[in-house]
Amino acid sequence: MNANSLQNYLEALHRDCAGIDTGAVASYIPELGKADPDWFGIALITVEGHVYQVGDSRQPFTIQSISKAITYGLALEDRGTEAVLSKVDVEPSGEAFNSISLEPETGRPKNPMINAGAIATVALIEGNTPVAKLSHMLDCYEKYLGHPVVIDEDVYRSEKSTGHRNRAIAYLLRNSNIIEKDTDDVLDVYFKQCSLLVTCEDLAMIGATLANNGFNPLTGVRALQDRYVPAVLSVMSSCGMYDYSGAWIYEVGMPAKSGVGGGIVAVLPGQFGLAVFSPRLDERGNSVRGIAVCKKLSADFGLHMFHIGRATASSVIHARYDAAQFPSKRIYEPEQIRILSEWGQKVIVLEIQGDFAFNSAEIVIHESMRAIENADFLIMDFTRVGEIDERALTLITDFIHSLFELSKQVLITGFCQKHEFAKRIKQRIEVTANSPLLDCEDIDHALQWCEQNLLANRVSK
Ligand code: GLU
Repeated sequence: MNANSLQNYLEALHRDCAGIDTGAVASYIPELGKADPDWFGIALITVEGHVYQVGDSRQPFTIQSISKAITYGLALEDRGTEAVLSKVDVEPSGEAFNSISLEPETGRPKNPMINAGAIATVALIEGNTPVAKLSHMLDCYEKYLGHPVVIDEDVYRSEKSTGHRNRAIAYLLRNSNIIEKDTDDVLDVYFKQCSLLVTCEDLAMIGATLANNGFNPLTGVRALQDRYVPAVLSVMSSCGMYDYSGAWIYEVGMPAKSGVGGGIVAVLPGQFGLAVFSPRLDERGNSVRGIAVCKKLSADFGLHMFHIGRATASSVIHARYDAAQFPSKRIYEPEQIRILSEWGQKVIVLEIQGDFAFNSAEIVIHESMRAIENADFLIMDFTRVGEIDERALTLITDFIHSLFELSKQVLITGFCQKHEFAKRIKQRIEVTANSPLLDCEDIDHALQWCEQNLLANRVSK
């Protein structure tokens, strides 16, 4: 069944942003210049493991700077916070990704998201040889993604043959003993980590894993120890979007990391990972469409991480049952009882609770889709719902429309204390089918209406 309004929303967002054609594909590494400027994908994966994707979300491209966040987490696991902080600070540099932002006294790079800090971080991860370091890194990616990753050999060669500035940075780091071993070995792994091939879906999975406290939401495998998740998300928040990081966190409000390959991964802790891929970059190196998508999604659903009071996923559905398990209180004849116990599974009740925002709407829609697949009637009870977010309401009303189109009956109960909500939903939904939609004051009345329909249909057949 394709009755998913979040999917529809993302498709519309993709259509809207596909018209943006400003920005240019990175060409300072010749191989990157070969990307198609029109590639454009969006993927969103929730901590429950629900996957939404649109456009070129399965087109492979190189991860570039987004790898810096993964390696930072790995270095923290391998060496611990203190050892890592002694080599790489966590202050935003306010400068370009390839700036030589080093502390004057110690030579310590400003943060792990600029090249200097990332190269120093590669030096920190376990492995005495480049091969050992790389294989350790690839194992880590496999945990995040649930599948192995490979290197784009052409991009790697191109990075290596043109990476003179990175070499200069590495020598400075060696000079101040931030890197304690051979710079060529470290750089080789750095160039390779930038050249790893990922898709937008992969990046969303990385985001969802970070959002899920370090556990991949589909495989359940731990990719990062939960005690280091806040550290990685913190540097993504303060330094992840090059010298646009301050404005980004102010406007979008999600820790994120972008790369010159055109990818952006954003994380809403406890909720989802969002990834956008579009290789047209602005002058700071961020994907132009990527920024537009994240800004719009965040604004539409009020997703800034400092918006508080959201319902948590596990608390959204108070109860889910069907009319065979819990029929109405009405008294029926034995034959009617027999029919209703046979056909009662066609009536599903979902009792929703908590504030109704983006994540709760997504969960309700997802649950409802599963529940209604083999049923004909859906009763959604809002008695326990508090605040109702405007855009979340739009998602739900779009969803109800799509159920009508599939000839499913939807009844909403428990809204009497919430007149404003009832008004808003009535404005949006033209009740064309002969469903009472909003006219049943409570679940029992709604159940009775559905039971009458079931009985009428069975008798007429
Ligand atoms: N490979 C790139 C470099 O070091 C990474 C750049 C990026 O994505 O910011 O030049």
